[in-house]
Amino acid sequence: MKILNKKNTIFLCSICNINSGTCNEDCKFCSQSVRYKADIERFKQKPIEEIQAEAVNARDAGALGFCLVTADKGLNDKTLEFVCNVAKAVKEVAPELRLIACNGTATLEQLLTLKENGIKAYNHNLETSESFYPQICTTHPWSERYETCQNVNKAGMVLITGGIFGLGESKEDRISMIESLNSLNPSSVPINFYHHNEALELQPNPLSVDEALELVRLTREMIPKAQRIMVAGGRELMFGDRQNEIFTNGANSIVIGNYLTTAGREMNKDLEMLQSLNLEVATKVN
Ligand code: SF4
Repeated sequence: MKILNKKNTIFLCSICNINSGTCNEDCKFCSQSVRYKADIERFKQKPIEEIQAEAVNARDAGALGFCLVTADKGLNDKTLEFVCNVAKAVKEVAPELRLIACNGTATLEQLLTLKENGIKAYNHNLETSESFYPQICTTHPWSERYETCQNVNKAGMVLITGGIFGLGESKEDRISMIESLNSLNPSSVPINFYHHNEALELQPNPLSVDEALELVRLTREMIPKAQRIMVAGGRELMFGDRQNEIFTNGANSIVIGNYLTTAGREMNKDLEMLQSLNLEVATKVN
C-alpha cells in the first residue's frame, strides 16, 4: 500500500461551515453562491455553541483537523473577527484540534491575525488550471487565489491547497493545476470531485472511478513533498464501494462527517473502513 507517511496512518479532518450559502461570486460548481438558488441551508453566523459541539464530536471521532469555513470571496473585518472568536471558543473545548481556516481571499495581515488567534493552517484552493478557470468563475481571477496561497506561506502558516476535478476540464488542465499546486509547496492537498446539484448549470461529473483514482495517484506523484493528499468533497459519490482504493493510490487523509452543503456518511463507517484496511487514524500532526 502506498502511503506517504510510512506508518499507514490516516489524517482525519472535519469541516464546519460557520457561515453558509451567502456568497455573491459565480463559481459554477458552488451551491453556496446566491446566484444559483440551490436548495441548501443558508445562514450568516452559526451559533458558537453549535460549532463547539461539532468540534468536540469531530475530536471524539478521531479528527485532528477542524476547518472553519465561510462562504464568501474573502475575509473582511467582520468575518475575520468572527473566525477569531470561533477559533478561541473551539480551543476552549477541544484544544487538541489543529484549527484550519478556509475563508477565501486573504491578505498577509489578515492571515497573521488568524495565526495570532490560534489558526495554524489556511486552506484556499486553486480549484482548476489557470487557463480553464475563466470558464468556471468570472467574478474573481485565478491569480488572486494563487496570491492568497503565497500569502499563507509568507505568514508562516501551514498551506492547504487543492482543487476540484470533474468540472469539464481537460487532462492538460488537470496536470497544469497539479503543477501549480506543487509550485506553492503545500503541506496538504485536498482533492475534490464535483458533486452535481441540479441548480447548477455545470454538467455532472464525467469521471469514471478508474480515472478518479488515477488522478489521486497523479497528484501524489506530482506533489511528492506534500505531507498529505486528502480526498475531500465528493468521495462517497465518486468512489462508492471502491473508496478503499484511494489509499492504495496515495491518499493519506480524508474528510469525515458532512461536507459544506452535502452529507457525508456516518463517521463510524469511515472508521470501520480504515480498521478493515489495517490503517490507523493519525493521532498527531506530522
Ligand atoms: S468564492 Fe467560494 S463560496 Fe463563493 S461561489 Fe466561489 S467557491 Fe463558492
